[in-house]
Amino acid sequence: MRYFVHCKSSIGNDLFLLHQNGCVLFPDPETVEFLGDFDGANEALKAARSRFGVTAGCRFCCPECNVPRRADAEAGDARTNASNGGSPP
Ligand SMILES: [Zn+2]
Repeated sequence: MRYFVHCKSSIGNDLFLLHQNGCVLFPDPETVEFLGDFDGANEALKAARSRFGVTAGCRFCCPECNVPRRADAEAGDARTNASNGGSPP
């Protein structure tokens, strides 16, 4: 799969966004750089980061690069409720 990097410069900071070839959110071709052929978005993202710096995955075509740390949610499972097995008064 071919990957491209879209440079969205805004005031003060550049943001790079990784897109797959054929993404429906693909930006204007004049604003993208061809990155290369990769097996997956994670590989492409690594390459993009070493070449461009901070790069994010498009949430549409590279969702596996765009998920926020969802493992964090697992840690906060506070089941401190003691079993209230007694019969009610
Ligand atoms: Zn995309």
